[in-house]
Amino acid sequence: MQVKKMGSRGILFNLPSKPFSVQIYCINTPNYLFIIDSGVVLENQMEDVKKYLKENNLLTKPVIIFNTHSHLDHIAGNGVIDSRLIIGQELSLEGFQNTFDLLNKYGDYKIAAENLIFPNLTFSKKLVFETEDIEFFHTPGHTEDSASCYDRLDKILLVGDSLVSPLPSINWYQLDIFIETLQKYKEIEFNKMILAHEIVLEDTKFIDESIEYIKRFKALDVDFTGFTDTHALMYRWGLVNIAKNLKKDGEEEEAKKFFLKAKTDIKNPIIKPEDESEYKQIIELIDKGLKSQ
Ligand SMILES: [Zn+2]
Repeated sequence: MQVKKMGSRGILFNLPSKPFSVQIYCINTPNYLFIIDSGVVLENQMEDVKKYLKENNLLTKPVIIFNTHSHLDHIAGNGVIDSRLIIGQELSLEGFQNTFDLLNKYGDYKIAAENLIFPNLTFSKKLVFETEDIEFFHTPGHTEDSASCYDRLDKILLVGDSLVSPLPSINWYQLDIFIETLQKYKEIEFNKMILAHEIVLEDTKFIDESIEYIKRFKALDVDFTGFTDTHALMYRWGLVNIAKNLKKDGEEEEAKKFFLKAKTDIKNPIIKPEDESEYKQIIELIDKGLKSQ
């Protein structure tokens, strides 16, 4: 675990996970300790964070946890530290329920399901702790329930998975809304922008690059030049996830477009996964998606 003090009151924890490291951020405000995201299911990132906070006498104020969205790698440790509030965007409750149901289906994951703690305070557009100078706001795109945090005092912006390095993580089909969200980040004055995985950024260049990629992705016109294995991973799962999401909402024709694109591109040596079981899994998802059209 790497620990880095940031601004006047922030601590960034970077913890190992695969394929990306996990970043959990704490903000020590006058009346609370805010914790942004809580780690991966069946991994124990929050135990390490708790140990550090305890040793450094930082667990003296009431704790407030904020989940940037309901994906499995952001919510698992909600119960590790006693907290007064767990905050999420209102749509995240459905995501938590889906995650709970999924985990509950498999023996090994049942304990993780039992330990999953849902948000007890939700908001639609925005929630502000005025005395603490902390804002939470809806930033749909990576998922419909995605939300961000802004520390007004230190001008630190936490974007969750709205930005992922090296390429945007696409799941939800409303790509124009995703682009709008990324554009709006550029209007916020920030010194540092913390991504939920891997990195911290200081300017808007990466936002522009991400917008450009989403536009090309939407037009099914992504250029694979310079693609690494990680780029390929983000791209192939982007196609499959968006297609599945479109199909779930009855957008059969649009879904077919992305499934067919995935079917073609997965054979391209640049995009094809090295891992045979992942390859099989993707082919099965594509065939299943195209079958009942
Ligand atoms: Zn995510």
